[in-house]
Amino acid sequence: MAKNGKKGVKKSRWSEEERAELRRQHEQKFHATKICIPGRTVSGIDRMLRRLGLVEAVRDAPIWSDADKARLRELKAQGLGGRRIFHAGHFPGRSIDAIQHEIGRLGLADKKASERLRKARRLDGFELKQFYEYLERYSHQKTPEEIAEHWGVHPHTVKRYQDNIGKRTSWRQTIQMPHSREKFERNGKKTTRRNRRRWKAWKKKQFARLDERAKEILEKKPNTPTVECLHCLQTWPRTTEFFYTTTKLLTKTGQHVHYVIRRCRYCGSRAGKKKKKKKV
Ligand SMILES: [Zn+2]
Repeated sequence: MAKNGKKGVKKSRWSEEERAELRRQHEQKFHATKICIPGRTVSGIDRMLRRLGLVEAVRDAPIWSDADKARLRELKAQGLGGRRIFHAGHFPGRSIDAIQHEIGRLGLADKKASERLRKARRLDGFELKQFYEYLERYSHQKTPEEIAEHWGVHPHTVKRYQDNIGKRTSWRQTIQMPHSREKFERNGKKTTRRNRRRWKAWKKKQFARLDERAKEILEKKPNTPTVECLHCLQTWPRTTEFFYTTTKLLTKTGQHVHYVIRRCRYCGSRAGKKKKKKKV
């Protein structure tokens, strides 16, 4: 993030409560990128984890070559953020912290996002306790958006904290809350129409992209095994780029085995699908 390495930006000290919260989330085996402390950046969290000796520092971090920098610039220009670049595995051997630092050094950080983060409200001490109490009490009546507004935090923050205490509501529950209903009544039709339009455009693009990739692969290696998607009946190369996979743990050997599911990425993951029972 931009604020790292820039002079004149005062970093606030971590309160005892923030540290305790960090330990708590760390104990729940959350990865540094999944830990959420309002107002703290992923890199800030990462650094504190190391300072507290909760994770080992990455030794011998590779130097950023000009080619690496060019690649990072390119990825940023495509609209990817540090977190996504990290998860996509573009720079193996580098931590998310290292990637975000480099983004900051190259002056590529998203100004708006940095600003938002800088201004983000910190919940500390007493407030954090109250926030949890509020979540305990209202998570089943108020939508994350409503709670977020009440506390001046981001809805994502609310959901993350709800996850911590098992109070996160499902989408189905959320849309039945009064706040959602009101919102829907106000601009329901318009939103639905707009969402549908966006969805269709996105699907079209997605298909074109997959189709192009498939042609490219089959042209290079005509012997690539292909398989038919059971939902759209389209034939694609049998790889994870085109199909979803599932992982099973073999209890006998303790090994994880990956299976390709015959549902293609164009058809999307099962989440939010209505026609689950459709058989072909
Ligand atoms: Zn399909």
